[in-house]
Amino acid sequence: MPTYSYRCPVCGPFDLVRRMAEVAGAADCPDCGRAGPRVWGAPALRGLDDRLRRALDAGERSADRPDVVGAVPGRSRKATPVTRDPRHAKLPRP
Ligand SMILES: [Zn+2]
Repeated sequence: MPTYSYRCPVCGPFDLVRRMAEVAGAADCPDCGRAGPRVWGAPALRGLDDRLRRALDAGERSADRPDVVGAVPGRSRKATPVTRDPRHAKLPRP
């Protein structure tokens, strides 16, 4: 379940973990019980793995300006090694 932030007029900010269906514009403060309005903040991106964040950034950048590549990424240009073993000639071919 996601965490939502609220601000009590007396105690200050507090977070509540709620189901999305239960989210309201205000919530009762866990300390004093007064209703506090919901506060909107930046998404919690710092919890993401560094590799995942880089991949998301690259995906976002390439959405309107894709990278130009000269070869299929992840494949080397090396030819498949040819074997000289005579037993390999007897193997079934695809
Ligand atoms: Zn309070």
